[in-house]
Amino acid sequence: MDHIVLVGASAAGLTAADTLRREGFTGTLTMVGDELQLPYDRPPLSKQVLAGDWEPHRSALRQDTDIQRLDMNLRLGCRATGLDTEDRVVTLADGDRLGYDGLIIATGLRPRRLPFGHDLAGVHVLRTLDETLTLRAQLLAGPRVVVIGAGFLGSEIAATARGLGLDVTLVDVEPAPMARQVGSWVGGLVGDMHRDHCVRLRMGRHVTGMTGQNGRVTAVTLDDGSRLPADVVVVAIGSVPATDWLAGSGLPLGDGVLCDRTCRAAPGVYAAGDVANWPHPVAGRRVRLEQRTNATQQAITAAGNLLSGPAEAVPYAPVPFGWTDQYDAKIQTCGWCPSDATVEVVDGDPQARKFVALYKVDDRVVGALGWNSARALREYRSHLTGNGAAR
Ligand SMILES: Cc1cc2nc3c(=O)[nH]c(=O)nc-3n(C[C@H](O)[C@H](O)[C@H](O)COP(=O)(O)OP(=O)(O)OC[C@H]3O[C@@H](n4cnc5c(N)ncnc54)[C@H](O)[C@@H]3O)c2cc1C
Repeated sequence: MDHIVLVGASAAGLTAADTLRREGFTGTLTMVGDELQLPYDRPPLSKQVLAGDWEPHRSALRQDTDIQRLDMNLRLGCRATGLDTEDRVVTLADGDRLGYDGLIIATGLRPRRLPFGHDLAGVHVLRTLDETLTLRAQLLAGPRVVVIGAGFLGSEIAATARGLGLDVTLVDVEPAPMARQVGSWVGGLVGDMHRDHCVRLRMGRHVTGMTGQNGRVTAVTLDDGSRLPADVVVVAIGSVPATDWLAGSGLPLGDGVLCDRTCRAAPGVYAAGDVANWPHPVAGRRVRLEQRTNATQQAITAAGNLLSGPAEAVPYAPVPFGWTDQYDAKIQTCGWCPSDATVEVVDGDPQARKFVALYKVDDRVVGALGWNSARALREYRSHLTGNGAAR
């Protein structure tokens, strides 16, 4: 193999590059990324960077010298626009065509948008460093903030905005924040925490529109007719896999790039990170994870499998692990925490906001959640296998 192209210059793309070099690939490596910055980490964006606790450069994933050591052709600020899997060519927005022997797709996600409101000034999404800095600049003016969507990201943004002393309303169609990700019981505790910090919660409500004046947002309207005055609105209603550039490539696409158990999507083509959808060998179904730890782990497996070839490729069967930081709470999950699971507290005390809960489906433990209980959760994590079942 002479030339490997990595599309997506972030956590998964960079880890794939590291892995390829570490495992002895001495050929040409080209990394294509549509953002201008060297690879940086996203978890601090909605927390330390938005809060102003970190200078933006602290989110860099590597020192410049470490990137140089990888000896890559870096094509930053340049979007991949097409893929020909027959001729093995990636097309770039500037018209360049990159031939490859191996390709790793690590293009992550793009924020989902509402069908209205995004043309108004003051309406934001948050996925990139640039978007974070733009939002932060507006938060400094002391606006009334409405966050639409109370998943992990929306809940974090609400917490950070409250930390800046702002007037914050959090809206979601679900009955509680993060209910879809961790179920309504833990979601209820998350809601209580936000209420304690004086965030106004409007749960179980649909946003029906936004109003503006002179091109700037002034309010968000809800399905019960209520009107939430707003100077800044953050839309955090989930994301979609960044696969638009792969249309017509012949790659199987669905909820992401549809890979096999080894993260392979086509001969010589692998995917990793938020964009990759694969049949989890132990879970027995297709999954796609939007978790930072997965981006690293999956890129290591995908890059290793690309080098070893299909005959020696290993299936990818991680125990999922994710976390969120809000106020003084660090909430970590491992395995699967489906909203219809039975939740049983096995350590600590939810009232004290320090506990571990197990998630059970048909009496089988499929996941665990720790709230300010990293050490205790580690114990339970080590007892979970790839399908989340207790060993
Ligand atoms: C604000 C925020 C906070 C988060 N906090 C947490 C957390 O606390 N805990 C946790 O577990 N996870 C968290 N996550 C999720 C975690 O950051 C992701 O799982 C991780 O970034 C995925 O890495 P990735 O490399 O697969 O994709 P991404 O990080 O999305 O990177 C993909 C890159 O590809 C680029 N790209 C897309 N299309 C193209 C194209 N056509 N051509 C060239 N380049 C392209 C994108 O611009 C981007 O730079 C957070 C995510 C966000 C956005």
